[in-house]
Amino acid sequence: MRRIIILVSLILISSTTFADTCAQYRAKYQCPGNDKKPIHLSFDDGPANLTPSVLDLLKRERIPATFFVLAERLDCQPHKTQCQAGEQAACTSYNYCLEHRKTLQRTKQEGHMIGSHSYSHLHLSALPIAEMEQQIQQSKQIIQPFFTTSPPLFRLPFGDGWFNRNQKPQVLQSLAKYGFKHIAWEMSAYDWRKADQQGDKILKTVMHEICSKRGGVILFHDGVFEDEHMGRTFTGDHLAEWIPAMRCVADFKPLTYFYKDLKVIGQ
Ligand SMILES: [Zn+2]
Repeated sequence: MRRIIILVSLILISSTTFADTCAQYRAKYQCPGNDKKPIHLSFDDGPANLTPSVLDLLKRERIPATFFVLAERLDCQPHKTQCQAGEQAACTSYNYCLEHRKTLQRTKQEGHMIGSHSYSHLHLSALPIAEMEQQIQQSKQIIQPFFTTSPPLFRLPFGDGWFNRNQKPQVLQSLAKYGFKHIAWEMSAYDWRKADQQGDKILKTVMHEICSKRGGVILFHDGVFEDEHMGRTFTGDHLAEWIPAMRCVADFKPLTYFYKDLKVIGQ
């Protein structure tokens, strides 16, 4: 009996602590109420050197996600050719490229969804049709072994071709021609903005986005470049701190919760 009382007390204490923590998060980020929004995490611009740590975290937290990857980061043959021709820097790039392919294989094995983010992250609507379609077609060819769904997924770099789909319908038309399904986002962490990469600014944005919307897919980045809109290491470094607050207001769902017509390969 005494053991049961201790156990019940422990459960009450821990649930009270959890509730208090969530109440504090909700107060701090001005998110009243108790409801949790259905959310799906997505990451653009990888695979990158920090992607494995994001995967470790998602595994630990049991959160499913979707990764929209750049085919250029998985296209190892040009690096190999240059490396064999004696270019030392190309040998380093080749090794990174092989690592990125391994990381993407792991991503797939761990049950996450994988889609294309084009070949090299250009503004597709600004390109001549032939070049735009090369970006799409080449990415399909390289990422093919890693795709997780039928039809395969695509997310346009900068949302260009989706935001402006009425003015530039050719981009979505070409995606359809190559059999891709475009996945946009309902919320954004704005984690590529250098000015936001301090303190809890990004978490504040994320909490506001989740609390003020009905749920959906949220955009993060796991890329590594510092000089372009290609994602930042900041997200990889801080995501573990953000998840507990997000859990108070979000119910993490797989992509198929929002896109019920998607067929997951192998299921
Ligand atoms: Zn991007």
